Amino acid sequence: SMPTKTDVLEQIEAKGVDFLRLQFIDILGTVKNVSVPAHQAEKAFEEGIYFDGSSIEGFVRIQESDMRLDPDPDTFAVLPWRSQRGDDTVSARLICNIIDTSTGEPFVGDPRYVLQRAIDRAADMGFELNAGPEPEFFVFEKDENGRATTETHDAGGYFDLAPKDLAQEIRAEVIYTLEAMDFEVEASHHEVAQGQHEIDFKYDDALTTADNIATFRSVVRAIAELHDVHATFMPKPIAGINGSGMHTHLSLFEDGENVFHDGDDEFSLSDTAYDFLGGILEHAPALTAICNPTVNSYKRLVPGYEAPIYVAWSDVNRSALVRKPAARVPAASRIELRSPDPSSNPYLALATMLHAGLDGIEKGRSAPDPVRENIYEFTEADREARGIETLPSTLGQAVTALQKDDVVLDALGPHVSEKFTQAKTQEYTEFLASVSQWELDRYLETF
Ligand code: ADP
Ligand code: MG
Ligand code: MG
Ligand code: MG
Ligand code: MG
Repeated sequence: SMPTKTDVLEQIEAKGVDFLRLQFIDILGTVKNVSVPAHQAEKAFEEGIYFDGSSIEGFVRIQESDMRLDPDPDTFAVLPWRSQRGDDTVSARLICNIIDTSTGEPFVGDPRYVLQRAIDRAADMGFELNAGPEPEFFVFEKDENGRATTETHDAGGYFDLAPKDLAQEIRAEVIYTLEAMDFEVEASHHEVAQGQHEIDFKYDDALTTADNIATFRSVVRAIAELHDVHATFMPKPIAGINGSGMHTHLSLFEDGENVFHDGDDEFSLSDTAYDFLGGILEHAPALTAICNPTVNSYKRLVPGYEAPIYVAWSDVNRSALVRKPAARVPAASRIELRSPDPSSNPYLALATMLHAGLDGIEKGRSAPDPVRENIYEFTEADREARGIETLPSTLGQAVTALQKDDVVLDALGPHVSEKFTQAKTQEYTEFLASVSQWELDRYLETF
């Protein structure tokens, strides 16, 4: 059963918590904290904690700035890494919903509320989304001024079994910390690229998974910081080697049963799964803006590094946008969306994926046949004949695709759509006007 306020107050007492970090997330996916002494916990639960929303990027205008944080008791967790510093201050966090004090209603700009709306729509249709992410990240050295570099500390390769190095130690400590916060870590390994890591945790309902991804990113960065190195979720920090993705595994459950499973189907997928998949493929271009929201995201979505470019699915091919992983048991039948990267806002990403899939179910979109050949070897004519589209190849194209997709815009709601589009258009415009090292290397001495 879900913990209540009373349970949390008891835990705060029992665990000797000194400070509570009330967390919420902004539209761009940044976790914000308001720290209060633990003796304010009861007040936080009863009255909420007021803050000025206009101080947060993309939240509200000055004249409508009063927001209230409403802590979700289900998200209480003692932060294990604080006490590793050697002092004995105990901090705990609570993730909060945001209430608009002018109406007393959930604030429409709260990404957690955007996801809650998607979850409610699924529930109305009888479904619960389960999502399991595979976030990847790099660990880099800092320079003598304490600034992050792109130098890797370790010299390991994929599944390296070399003697323990610092990066492995950090990964172990991250896992230990996550487990102390009740995560079920399923797998962790060195990735293809030097200094790159992946930690997979067990799938859960969409809201828990989004909270977990946000927590995961904070934990990784905090542990790296304690070791004086820098962990980054930037999608493609080094040109020429694999970027960091966040493959996302999705399935719908109904009354505790996985309704994506059909043992009689060639790929063990049900009609519901094919329709959901059809919706994901149809809305894939617009989803890209949300799942790949930085200029740098598009440096990862290029041929040659197992990142998807073409809108197709496959049961064998790891370069397709969606893969149907082998499932040993019915509960594990799922689809894997391979485009998302860890710079995305996990709440908005899961909300838009869910709406896209539900739209496919409502409209009976039934997915096309899988593509079992290597799509990279297809000519443009082959792709056209099969109706295989290409994902947006820049942030600008992705934002344009988003602006044309009413299902994904509705998923975000008008407030988030507007703020997100504005912020991303500005980001892309700034990028276009910037002068890169590549240009200097190529042109400075040539002309
Ligand atoms: P890959 O083969 O792509 O590396 P992994 O085995 O590393 O995949 O990751 C599998 C992910 O899928 C895990 O997060 C796991 O919990 C999740 N998963 C398993 N079953 C389901 C399901 N029914 N719905 C959603 N996610 C699931
Ligand atoms: Mg994995
Ligand atoms: Mg991986
Ligand atoms: Mg998992
Ligand atoms: Mg994967």
